[in-house]
Amino acid sequence: MDNPLLDTRAGALPAFATIRPEHVEPALQDRLAANRAALERLLAASRNGPVSFEDLILPLEELGDQLQHVWSPVSHLHAVANTPELREAYNRCLPLLARYQTEIAQNAELYRLFAAVAQTVPEGRADGARALLDHALRDFRLAGVTLPPEQKQRFMEIMEALAGKQALFEQNLLDAMAAWSHHETDAAKLDGIPANTLERAAEAARAAGRKGWLFHLDQPSYVAVLTHARNRELRALFHRAWSTRASDQAPSPPGLDNGPLMDEILALRHEAAELVGYTDFAEYSLATKMAASVSEVRAFLERLVVASRFAGRSEFAELEAHAGHALEPWDVAFHAEELRLRKFAISDEELRPYFPLPRVLEGLFALVGRLYGLHLEADGQVAVWHPTARFFRVLDSGGAPIGGLYMDLYARPEKRSGAWMDDCISRKRLDGRLQLPVAHLVCNFAPPTATAPSLLSHDEVLTLFHEMGHALHHLLTRIDYPSISGIHGVPWDAVELPSQFMEGFAWEPEILAMISGHHESGLPLPPELVERLRQSRVFHGALHMLRQLEFSLFDLRIHAEYSPGQGGRIMKLLGEVRDAVAVVPAARYDRFPNGFAHIFGGGYAAGYYSYKWAEVLSSDAYAAFEEEGVLNPAPAARFRREILEVGGSRDIAAAFRAFRGRPPDIAALLRHSGITAAAASETGTGPATA
Ligand SMILES: [Zn+2]
Repeated sequence: MDNPLLDTRAGALPAFATIRPEHVEPALQDRLAANRAALERLLAASRNGPVSFEDLILPLEELGDQLQHVWSPVSHLHAVANTPELREAYNRCLPLLARYQTEIAQNAELYRLFAAVAQTVPEGRADGARALLDHALRDFRLAGVTLPPEQKQRFMEIMEALAGKQALFEQNLLDAMAAWSHHETDAAKLDGIPANTLERAAEAARAAGRKGWLFHLDQPSYVAVLTHARNRELRALFHRAWSTRASDQAPSPPGLDNGPLMDEILALRHEAAELVGYTDFAEYSLATKMAASVSEVRAFLERLVVASRFAGRSEFAELEAHAGHALEPWDVAFHAEELRLRKFAISDEELRPYFPLPRVLEGLFALVGRLYGLHLEADGQVAVWHPTARFFRVLDSGGAPIGGLYMDLYARPEKRSGAWMDDCISRKRLDGRLQLPVAHLVCNFAPPTATAPSLLSHDEVLTLFHEMGHALHHLLTRIDYPSISGIHGVPWDAVELPSQFMEGFAWEPEILAMISGHHESGLPLPPELVERLRQSRVFHGALHMLRQLEFSLFDLRIHAEYSPGQGGRIMKLLGEVRDAVAVVPAARYDRFPNGFAHIFGGGYAAGYYSYKWAEVLSSDAYAAFEEEGVLNPAPAARFRREILEVGGSRDIAAAFRAFRGRPPDIAALLRHSGITAAAASETGTGPATA
């Protein structure tokens, strides 16, 4: 076979060593044509008589998996081994893929067949067949496939307009940030700002042919100035620039004001939601999530507000006492950093020597061995895309293979930043033959030097554990249909449960002893450092919690309470939420929503609460291990059976109850955030809402 991407045999690992950019588009074209022809044959056959799950759904699952075999290696290489040629091929393919996916999503005949098959499959069928059908039917309806032609046309127009306006929102934000700069020639005014930030600013000044330092409004520079600059006016200047980005309060060109756009986006979302039968966009968003209703999410968030507000006030009072004066918004990060250093005196640089990557990995593998009986075995024969990437065979306690794991952990120029888990091959058993799952685990740690291995900060250790949690979710699945196996079909607000859950282990003295070992002396992290590290975890836990709750409630309410007659009322609702939640004062000029790309750019719209929702699940799940013993295989076996194995085949609320013996409780998250029950129940907490 001359195009390695067309090797779609079950279980075949991608031929990473031989894939070339010129293979990409022909392979995708070939696969899409084959899929379309196969779909036509299936539809034609279905017109001759009743259809069954086996005759229709299984072949469709197979087609989806065939496409994944072609596309997964391409999108992976695009992320970790990018070249101009590959990027070009990749970009040419995106519209081809999108068109194919729209054809499927908008196929009314296919929708009717799914509905007919669903009649023949009993609810709650153990293999997840009914869940698969219900998910598919729901997604068809959410895409407007059941609407009469005129409304369907309008729905498609709205979706297209939304995509454009959301992209414009992000573009305005970027342009507004690029339009701002601050030039400084007096070094004394920059006192406290870290060297690497100053370095970048000096470089920018040189590039512009100027003396001194030229700052732009990128996030790292903004955070560095607000956290470290001693000069109060400088902090105030940056704060104003940042919190008025793309707004009517900004000095940037008025064409970049996102205000009108935000109203239009809310209006379009509301109209789309109503067209497909929901009262508002928040309800539409929740249709695919674990949370059952807007009122449930709101009550959930408000419960956390009540529990955190007293502790938040105490934290803020302590901070003002430390500063010795009332704090303005641009003072908070600076004095918080001072206080943090005074209380815990802990820095990344102090911890790194204790976390050489090989030692951390060895400890992490030992941990998953203790919890799930897994054994990871490096296999140097498997083709990879870079000499430092590695492949591991994942075996169960009896030595039987259960899947594979690629790890690519070092930063490189041709690699996307950040860390993620991606699905390489999905578990599949459609014709009796089992295809085992394979995952990609990607990070961007500093590579080893001539004299030292890669040394991780504790944050990076958490990242590695987090991504391993996602990988285990993908690898331990027992579901045979690819579209609901592993992380597929898992609701957005629950998908971070297995990953955040794994982070819990990286705070345990017992586990820290397993994963640490000074790269020179080999000694584990000293108990005194372990203690300081654990204390620093909860520093300003309530203030961070309240900030996230403010964002979440704001996002939920502007979508749930939108009314066409009154428009967005964005600043009014923000004011109400702040009155009910915030303990840190906001500046009068603050136009934070105009830069809230998470929700106005798409993605998290009426879904920002998912962060806290999943954290409650993961904290509470982890608490079972605190209660029963962190290395106890009993809760691990339960967690594996009820949560990790079920993929998207099961209602997650029911799965959680089966694991924990009760519904999720917020107590563990409060405790892990340093918010004690005593503080939460003090009088003076006040009502949660205005
Ligand atoms: Zn994650």
